[in-house]
Amino acid sequence: MVSNTPTRPVKESVDGKRVNQERARLLYEHASLGVAFTAVVCTCVVLLVGTSQQYGGQMWAWWCVMMAICLARLTAIRRWERSGNPNGVLGIRWFGAGILLQGLAWELMALVLFPVFPEEQRALVLMVMCALASGAITTLASSFWLAAGYATQMTLPPAILYMLADRTQNGSAVVFLTLSYLLMILHSARVNHEAVLRSIHAQESRQTLLAQMQQAYQDLAAAQVDLQNANQNLEQRIRERTSDLVKEVAERSRYAQELTRLASTDSLTGLSNRATFSSRLTACAKSAGAAGERLAVLFIDLDRFKEVNDVRGHDAGDLVLREVARRLASNLPEHAELARWGGDEFVVMAPRVKDETEAIEIANRLRSALWLPIPLAAEEVSIDGTVGIAMFPKHGRSDDDLIRAADVAMYSAKQEGRNRVRMFEQSLADDLASRHIVAQALRDAVSSGQLSLHFQPIVSTLTGRCETMEALLRWHHPDLGLIAPLDFIPMAERSGDIVGIGRWALVEACRAAAQWSGVPSPPAVAVNISAVQVLSGTLFDDVEFALRESKLPPSRLHLELTESLFAGDHQRISPAIEGLRRRGIRISIDDFGTGFSSLSYLQDLPVDTIKIDRTFINRMNRDSHAIVQAIVMVGRALSFEVIAEGVESENQWKELQALGVTQFQGYIVSRPIPGERVPNWLAASVQANRDLASLSERVRSGAPSGVHYREVVTARVEDDGYC
Ligand code: C2E
Ligand code: CA
Ligand code: CA
Repeated sequence: MVSNTPTRPVKESVDGKRVNQERARLLYEHASLGVAFTAVVCTCVVLLVGTSQQYGGQMWAWWCVMMAICLARLTAIRRWERSGNPNGVLGIRWFGAGILLQGLAWELMALVLFPVFPEEQRALVLMVMCALASGAITTLASSFWLAAGYATQMTLPPAILYMLADRTQNGSAVVFLTLSYLLMILHSARVNHEAVLRSIHAQESRQTLLAQMQQAYQDLAAAQVDLQNANQNLEQRIRERTSDLVKEVAERSRYAQELTRLASTDSLTGLSNRATFSSRLTACAKSAGAAGERLAVLFIDLDRFKEVNDVRGHDAGDLVLREVARRLASNLPEHAELARWGGDEFVVMAPRVKDETEAIEIANRLRSALWLPIPLAAEEVSIDGTVGIAMFPKHGRSDDDLIRAADVAMYSAKQEGRNRVRMFEQSLADDLASRHIVAQALRDAVSSGQLSLHFQPIVSTLTGRCETMEALLRWHHPDLGLIAPLDFIPMAERSGDIVGIGRWALVEACRAAAQWSGVPSPPAVAVNISAVQVLSGTLFDDVEFALRESKLPPSRLHLELTESLFAGDHQRISPAIEGLRRRGIRISIDDFGTGFSSLSYLQDLPVDTIKIDRTFINRMNRDSHAIVQAIVMVGRALSFEVIAEGVESENQWKELQALGVTQFQGYIVSRPIPGERVPNWLAASVQANRDLASLSERVRSGAPSGVHYREVVTARVEDDGYC
């Protein structure tokens, strides 16, 4: 650091105070010797001239005065010396006073004794005084006025006194000579004084110069120290900055590596991400093209992963994804690369694949690697995957085309019922394009009034009445015609549109049911609720709104939920379902037997009814009889009502009735009926019910069969052929 010490101002001229101090110093320097000399001279004068009886006493008295003066002067000189010479002017004045006093003493002696002295003694004293005067011009040279004053004092008055005492020519000559002498010594005094002043000035200038040089030297030294410090500081800062820079550079390169890694990998699984996979695929496709080789791109989508995530929570979902990534990675063929495409989708690129058969083998191997159950905190889940395959160069040459083709193949496999492998074909892409159009159109279906509800009766063999009507969605597209719910509901679930559609269905079903009050005991309405609706968290409010809007009593509303919703952590959704039940709404498990059935959780379910899936009913005469029997037994043991859906034949009816099933839904009773025809149908069914009593010869067990029901009702309501 550069010092901020201000540079002292350099003296330009000689300091007057110092000059006076020096002048005083010169006066005092040899003053003691001068005083001593004066004392000796006085003594000699007394001894030489003072022996006469006539004036001896006076001389000794004078001597005493002189000695006193000398003593006083010595004391003043000593004090002055001890005081350190602070004030030059004052010192000169005091010194002058001593000299004046001393001169006055000599004059006093001349005044008193010259008249009585004999001539020789008078001349001697005058000579001594003149000698002292001449000595003074040297010793008092630093003060001209002091030297001149003392010289004048010691010569002029004694010369005049001499002349007065000797009025002869001799006396005049002595005065003349003395005056001449005085003038000479005054001149000398002037010359001496100027020489002394010059020397003082020269000395002062030298000292000032010296001081200035010293000052300059000190300043230089200080500046050097500052410079050195500044240099050291600078070096230190450079060292620190250099080490900071080195650290910063290292840090940056670490960040850059980390960023590259993050940008190129998926943080959950540690696999490559989309961007990396795409660029790797581009490179591999290029080299495969050059080498004339085939390359397979596999698009893997996990089945039912959404349920794991929604029902068991995201932590469980993450765990499953990591485990799937690990299993896929460890079952890859040589040179193949794996990446996470997003969500539960993975992509694989397998170079040097001979043909499509080998690609399908790879896909099946990867699928089977997933089958082993994955343990979670409380239980385990089984995962499967659906795989779509595209081949380079047959199905595409660019990374985009290949991945899209594999995705299309995977999507088609999903539509065909999941858990399978599908090779891409152009027809699949065309199919998908039309599905895309459908999905777009579905978005406006509610607002443009293209949706409607049909109702399918559920009848009870105990009461012989239609107790419930299941509301089933229908979509009349102006160009595409009637679209079945199984073709658009999964689509709406994926896009989330099902929440709005389901809300509409709830309100419409309740409104319709509220209009059925024309018959004695109007049936309840059962509305299908998608898992997406339940998990969206708005179901309770939607139900409340529908009941308020339609004024339908809650006891006449049933909600059909799929079984998978209750699998796993059903504690999460049970409170919401319980809330609905407390309102008096009945809850049914739809498609029972197809989901994650486990006897252990059945008893805790907050439901009233289970509906045996129609696939079991359909296959009862082949392999499902035992399953249906088991479901009915479990349902009865747990006090659930059991509904058999999809009952088509008289045989099925009888078998189910023999197993103890009392509620039936299916074509044997009726196909779904358009909403506006339901009141007619209900009126006819009431009449039919009455008519049934007269058909007793056709009733075997005492309860009406589905065939009777349909026959009788059909006799009254024209079947319009909806299914
Ligand atoms: P689901 O809930 O199992 O409804 C019963 C389905 O079985 C209906 O098909 C019905 O027409 C059909 N069915 C009834 N009896 C018979 C029979 O004897 N034989 C045969 N082969 N089929 C019979 P649909 O109307 O095509 O509905 C299909 C599925 O669409 C429904 O299955 C339900 O899961 C879903 N769905 C319908 N409407 C809605 C709705 O409003 N919301 C939601 N979330 N899903 C709905
Ligand atoms: Ca249903
Ligand atoms: Ca069903």
